[in-house]
Amino acid sequence: MSPTPIVSAFFNDISSAERRASHQGRRTRIVATIGPASDDPQLLKAMGEAGMDVARVSLAHGSIEESIDRIHRIRAAVPGIAILADLPGPKVRSTPFVEGGVELEEGTELVVTVAADTPTSNGERIGVSLDEGLGSLGVGDTIVVGDGGVSLEVVTPGLTEVVVRVTSAGRVQGRPGITVPSHALSAPTPTPEDLERIKALVADGVEAIAISFVRSPSDVEAVRRAVGDHPCLLVAKIETREAIADIDAIVRTADSVMVARGDLGVRLPIEDVPSLQKQIIRSGVRFGRPVITATQMLESMIHATTPTRAEVTDVANAVLDGTSAVMLSAETAVGAHPLLVIETMARILRRAERDFDYVHWGASLGVQEVSGDRTSNLRVTAAITGAGWRAALEEDAAAIIACSSTGTTVRAISRFRPSMPIVAVTKSEFRARQLRMSWGVEDVIVHPSEDSYVQTYAALERLHELGLVAPGDVVVVLAGSRDTPTPLTDTVRLVRVPSGI
Ligand code: PEP
Repeated sequence: MSPTPIVSAFFNDISSAERRASHQGRRTRIVATIGPASDDPQLLKAMGEAGMDVARVSLAHGSIEESIDRIHRIRAAVPGIAILADLPGPKVRSTPFVEGGVELEEGTELVVTVAADTPTSNGERIGVSLDEGLGSLGVGDTIVVGDGGVSLEVVTPGLTEVVVRVTSAGRVQGRPGITVPSHALSAPTPTPEDLERIKALVADGVEAIAISFVRSPSDVEAVRRAVGDHPCLLVAKIETREAIADIDAIVRTADSVMVARGDLGVRLPIEDVPSLQKQIIRSGVRFGRPVITATQMLESMIHATTPTRAEVTDVANAVLDGTSAVMLSAETAVGAHPLLVIETMARILRRAERDFDYVHWGASLGVQEVSGDRTSNLRVTAAITGAGWRAALEEDAAAIIACSSTGTTVRAISRFRPSMPIVAVTKSEFRARQLRMSWGVEDVIVHPSEDSYVQTYAALERLHELGLVAPGDVVVVLAGSRDTPTPLTDTVRLVRVPSGI
C-alpha cells in the first residue's frame, strides 16, 4: 500500500525527528506502588529522580491514617509527584493462615467458611471475609486463593460454609486475597469503608483515586458523587467480567482506566489477558483517557536484580499496545530493589519507544469519542487536537504546546501519541501534577497568565532551555481564542520560534 502524502512528507524529512528524539524524554509514564520497602525519604527521592511519575498508595493495607501519613512522606520527598490512592473495594481475604502456611494438594476436600467461624485458616478450613456469606456460590464455581496459583471448586454449597475440592495445588500463607466469581460479591463498589476513605483523601487533595472491582458505570458515578467538587481523576480498575462487558460505558464515565491484570486473570481465562489488555487500551485511547497497564510487569525483581526476558518483552509490548503508563506493585512496595526496578523499567520503556510507530498510530485513530451532545465543548477540543496532530506531522513541528486549564486538551492530544514532545501550560499546580499520568508530556509549565499568547511564549522559552527547539523551528499551539465566553480549546496555531528567544 502506498503511503498517504502526509506520511511520506514526514518520512522524507526524518532526520530532524531523529535529532529531536535523541534529547527527548521518556514518553510512557511509570506508576510505582509505595509500601514498607520504599518508605524511606532518601529512597523515595531517588525513585522520583529515576523516573517514578506517579506514586500509588494502596489503601487495602493498614488504616486510612497510616495511608495519609505515607502520602505526606511521599510528597515531602518527591515534590511535584502525583498521588494515586487505590480504594480496595469489596476485596475478599482469607483469615491468617497458621504459621508457615499450608500445602494444599490436588483432589483433597476442605471447608471454606465465613471469617467469624474460622479466625485462623489451615489445611482443613479456610475463613474468608465475605460479609454477605457464601450463599450465592453454586456447585462448580471456582474460588482462587492468592494470585492464581491455588484454585478450589465448590462441591457442596451452603450459606455460611461450602465444601470445596482443590483443583490446582500449591502453598498458601499469610493472608492471601480470595477471588470469588463477581456474582457472589453483593457488596457495593464503593463500599461504606471506601466512602469513609474518600472523605479523608478529598480533604488531603489527592490527584487521583483508583476504584477496585468496578462492575458498571454507576460504580464510578457513585465515587464521583462522594468526591464532590474535588477535581481528582477517577481511575476505573478493569478486573471483572461485568466491566469487560460494559467497557466503553465505563471508560466514558471514568477519567482513566487500569488494566488490572491480577484480578482480571483469575476472573477471566488467563489466556484472554493479552487481548483484553489491547481492547482496554484501545477503548481508553478512543475516549482520550490515560490507560495504566498493571501487575507482574517486573515481578521477578521482587527478589532478583534483573528481570526475565519474558517480563522485558511484556513491558515493551505494553508500550507497543499504546499504554500511557505501566505500574509496579509488589516490586516497589515490598521488593528488595525498588530503585533498581524503576531504573530498569525506565530503560525498557525508552528502548521500546524507539520501535513505536508514531505516524501510523495517530493516522489509524478515529474521531475521539466524547460524552454529551453535539453542543459539548469537548467535541471542539477533540476536533482541534486532531487538526493539531495532523499539522504537527505535516510541518514536522518541533513540539506541541497545549494550553489547558483542566488538562483535557493535553489528554486529547496525548491520545495521538505524537512523535514530538508535548508541553502543557496551566495555571494550576494540581493540574500539572495530574498530567504526570499522561503519555508523552515532556514538561508542564505552571504560569499565572490565562492569556494563551503569554503562555505560549513561556512554553517556547522552556522548550528552548530544554534544547527541544531552536529559532526557526515550527511549534503547534493548541489554545482557546480570546473571545470565547467559557474556557474552550478552539484554535490551532503554527508558530515559528523567534530568533531572539
Ligand atoms: C490487579 O488486580 O491487577 C490490581 C492492580 O489490583 P490490586 O493490586 O489492588 O489487587
